[in-house]
Amino acid sequence: MFLMLHEQVGHNIDIVENKGDGTFEYLVSPERFKEYARLSASMEVFQRCIRRAKEFAANEGHRKPEALGQALRSELDLPAELYGDAQFCAVAKRAGAIAYEKSRPAGLMKSVTQKEPRQCYLCGEAPATGAPLKLSADHLWPLSLGGETMEENLLSACANCNNERGHICLWTFEAAHSSHKKETGKELRWTLRVSLAMSRLMLVASGKLTKGPRMTLKQAAQLASPLALPLKLNDEHRYLYFELLRHTEVPL
Ligand SMILES: [Zn+2]
Repeated sequence: MFLMLHEQVGHNIDIVENKGDGTFEYLVSPERFKEYARLSASMEVFQRCIRRAKEFAANEGHRKPEALGQALRSELDLPAELYGDAQFCAVAKRAGAIAYEKSRPAGLMKSVTQKEPRQCYLCGEAPATGAPLKLSADHLWPLSLGGETMEENLLSACANCNNERGHICLWTFEAAHSSHKKETGKELRWTLRVSLAMSRLMLVASGKLTKGPRMTLKQAAQLASPLALPLKLNDEHRYLYFELLRHTEVPL
């Protein structure tokens, strides 16, 4: 659903530099910034759609997907390519139902954590023999955003990563708007680390790092696990988010 939205909404946004006064020159990578801005625009619309689709699941779940399409048309002003597309309406209805029901079959959640490799896909922690580290299944595309509880969308994460990540996707929270100065002896802020890890996940899934075809989030996460890379930062330098993002572009 997100990709369909992105193709029709954010992907088409043209971000133009204002030549002469104040440009993107201060950014490390204007291209990455533009891509980020387009994804953010798509995510904004996506969040509104999923909220409406959840309401639909709660109150009008018996109605046909087209009815949701009409609601999205009148309330969110979606382009005709989306609200008039039967496949988009069906996907949106399904995503809304998943986000509303939040179903997590315990058996499936457990079986995922018992499969190899038994390590956290985000930080790489693995339980040593007899150690108490507990792995739980994390939704790669968050349940609250319509990510289904199915094997293809689940991977093992340690409790810390799973709890702290919540429903973070790379472009959805405050980290991107901030700069970071390393404090002596302190780790990078957790939300920032997860954001960078998620960014890497999306980058790998897009095929841009492997120079191959687009892949599923699970294929990408397995290929690039652990996603959170160690960062070598100077104590004195204040890093822009887009500068930190360069660390995510490690060739595979
Ligand atoms: Zn972890």
